[in-house]
Amino acid sequence: MNVLFATSEAVPFAKTGGLADVSASLPQALAELGHTVSVFMPAHRCVFHSGLPLTNREIDISVPIGNKTMFGTLWEGRLPGGDVPYYFIRQDRYFDRETLYSRQGEDYADNCERFVFFCRAVMESVERLQMKVDVLHSNDWQTGLLPAYLKLMYGSRPRFHDVASVHTIHNLAYQGAFWHWDMVLTGIGWEHFNYDEMEFYGKLNLLKTGVVYADAITTVSPHYAQEIQTEEYGCGMDGVLRFRKEKLRGILNGISTEHWDPATDPFLAAPYDIGNIFEQKPRCKADLQRETGLPERSDLALVGMVGRLACQKGLDLVCDTIPTWVENHGVQYVILGTGDPVTEMRLRKLAETYPQNVAVRLEFSDSLAHRIEAGADLFLMPSRYEPCGLNQMYSQIYGTLPIVRNTGGLADTVLDGETGFVFENDSVHDLNTTIWRALQCFWEDRDDFNRMIRNAMRRDWSWKRSAEQYVALYEEIR
Ligand code: ADP
Repeated sequence: MNVLFATSEAVPFAKTGGLADVSASLPQALAELGHTVSVFMPAHRCVFHSGLPLTNREIDISVPIGNKTMFGTLWEGRLPGGDVPYYFIRQDRYFDRETLYSRQGEDYADNCERFVFFCRAVMESVERLQMKVDVLHSNDWQTGLLPAYLKLMYGSRPRFHDVASVHTIHNLAYQGAFWHWDMVLTGIGWEHFNYDEMEFYGKLNLLKTGVVYADAITTVSPHYAQEIQTEEYGCGMDGVLRFRKEKLRGILNGISTEHWDPATDPFLAAPYDIGNIFEQKPRCKADLQRETGLPERSDLALVGMVGRLACQKGLDLVCDTIPTWVENHGVQYVILGTGDPVTEMRLRKLAETYPQNVAVRLEFSDSLAHRIEAGADLFLMPSRYEPCGLNQMYSQIYGTLPIVRNTGGLADTVLDGETGFVFENDSVHDLNTTIWRALQCFWEDRDDFNRMIRNAMRRDWSWKRSAEQYVALYEEIR
């Protein structure tokens, strides 16, 4: 099968979140199952700084945007050791920017135009490259227009005649909602700006567009697929999703077992596997304590956290609970993340108040993320919602028991009392009760704690399994 995978980010070319991890791993896993995959993404500035070689394909693409024509060029690269071509649409006016979607918390004013251009350029590139495509797989709002272009504009051309489309929702909270006049930029007629198609509460909504026009919709965990059909988690889109529920499926993300393997992890002071974890992991803990300036104490529980500092991630609950555990039980925390300025300030303050117990790093550091996953005893993820979540999977593979809320992919991947600790409500009370349960186990019942660590390390989230489910879906809709 020939799969075109369109995304706005893929690690190590560009990354703001889990979508980038998926866009690096899934295409390769599909290729390993024998399919021909091409990935398209914008040539963001950081793509050229990734250190990977890129070739200018010397192909110009012209794209109508409203009543003007914009031009792009096509570049090509590969992931290290990979054989899937990554095509980059270059138009510096849109993509040569320091960050991907926003600056200092403000979305770029021309985000709609940027991704209208990208989506149409993808369709035009297929023609220019004379590519054979069986399935067009788009992701999140940035590529939500692709299923619509396929159905409304390009489907009648021979090359696109038999192409089926899948749209994946990685996070329903980001919908790409723009004022209605941006409809003009898309080149799609106003007759499609209505309740059943591209309009959503008076705005042009690109995620809804993908959901409405795709032949199948997926999201990144079975639990989240159910949740988003409810008012509580539906971000206003639950009605649309319920309407299309026959076409909606949850496929759990895998993880990159190459990049995340404690036995071969180059960032760790003492790599380990299930056979020697109890000798080696304490060295990783001491190393993390040294690196972050915390006292080297093996007896104190060390709690780690890595992620975007967004409301979604429940950081406010974490900040509310830290003083109790630090003051009464000497618990240590290492927190790595960037995001919401208010949360950053709260965390900085906690680190100042408790320098012996709380280390905060407000930066993006892949290597420190690895050392936290290995060096902590417990990993916190009290998310309000979590489409899939990757860190709780990494932490289990690293034998660091996660404390998670019973939502989305967290609910699908953490087994309470077996591989981690799960709590129900997003309340300080529920979080504290569960931290207490985890600490009791850590302090008083080390045999049970170690049994859970071994269980967690044996879990298998290789991409092969997820890729097989995508292939089964592609075959159903062709
Ligand atoms: P989301 O996609 O909602 O941000 P996920 O858990 O699915 O959350 O994926 C986040 C990814 O980004 C993980 O690989 C995580 O380790 C990484 N990450 C997030 N923030 C940081 C950071 N400050 N430093 C290093 N890695 C980070």
